[in-house]
Amino acid sequence: RGLVSALSSPLDLDGLTLVLEASAGVAVYPEHATEAEGLLRRADVAMYEAKRDRTAVEVYEATRDGNTPDRLGLLADLRRALDAGEVELHYQPKVGFDGTVSGLEALVRWVHPERGRVPPDEFIAIAETSGLMPRLTEYVLETALAQVALWRAAGLTVPVAVNVSPRDVHSPGFAGAVAARLARHGVPPGALQLEITEHVLLEDPQQAADTLAGLTGHGVKMSLDDFGTGYSSLVHLRRLPVSELKIDRSFVARLAVDTEDAEIVRCTVDLAHSLGLLVVAEGVEDDETWERLRDLGCDAVQGWLVAAAMPPGETTAWLRAREVPAPLPTSTS
Ligand code: C2E
Ligand code: CA
Ligand code: CA
Ligand code: CA
Repeated sequence: RGLVSALSSPLDLDGLTLVLEASAGVAVYPEHATEAEGLLRRADVAMYEAKRDRTAVEVYEATRDGNTPDRLGLLADLRRALDAGEVELHYQPKVGFDGTVSGLEALVRWVHPERGRVPPDEFIAIAETSGLMPRLTEYVLETALAQVALWRAAGLTVPVAVNVSPRDVHSPGFAGAVAARLARHGVPPGALQLEITEHVLLEDPQQAADTLAGLTGHGVKMSLDDFGTGYSSLVHLRRLPVSELKIDRSFVARLAVDTEDAEIVRCTVDLAHSLGLLVVAEGVEDDETWERLRDLGCDAVQGWLVAAAMPPGETTAWLRAREVPAPLPTSTS
């Protein structure tokens, strides 16, 4: 505990004060595991619990650990993969009905050395419950902003959307950290969009509101993801400072065949427009759905009909083929 508090005292770097929060996890032999690897994994689980709950030190408790040995293994591997830069981002375009590219959504891809491709839903759930989520989000933001800077340098000024979890929105320093990261990469805040879900309002609505206000205050755009799958969507819409709403794939998928789903989409588009929001439909797979959405006044679509998420190089080629208009050359530096 002495070590933890020593590490937690503020550091002064060039007038910038950094408070490092150190956390430690403890696992005991032979109570929690009898081999070194098992002990380390369990100490890791306790450490992330300590980070999440900001309690400095936690002792591993099997009863609190919802992780099966399999999940524990995956968690340890994910952490290592993030440290080693083995997690990749693919990019899926958001496209207007006239063909203009309004943005790219960054989606994580992880190919595990033994298990092969692990679906994002699976490891994101693990990251979320283990406390690894802030590290994952940091990694995704860092990778996406570095990529945006490269594209901008090459004359491709397309904005990028990053998915953030409720956990991120509830960390007090999040808005400032995002702003600092943008500045470091020389990317204007308007080139970043953060996709959030209504879940951000469940835990601590005040903290969430503060973080979102901080982000929009810096000029970062917010998008409300998976709309329609949550709770009292109307109330949430008024309380969240978002400029875009994404209709969940579950309503879009059967839009062309299910009149109820079509009605839900129609209402959502009208509601969003009356609040001045742009509407994006996700999961568009066929022409008929595309046409319906266009007729309903939707602003943009995302889906396999246009393009699946692509690795960075392929995305560059795709953007070039689309001829995203390059900005006029400027004479600044
Ligand atoms: P999401 O944000 O709703 O992302 C859309 C998902 O739909 C992606 O799945 C995408 O590949 C898939 N998709 C796109 N077009 C189509 C289509 O036309 N048809 C069908 N059937 N599916 C389509 P993916 O990549 O497996 O991601 C799943 C979820 O994982 C995402 O859902 C998001 O909630 C989460 N996720 C992905 N990347 C990140 C990340 O970097 N951070 C966080 N916090 N969550 C992420
Ligand atoms: Ca999303
Ligand atoms: Ca979504
Ligand atoms: Ca989803």
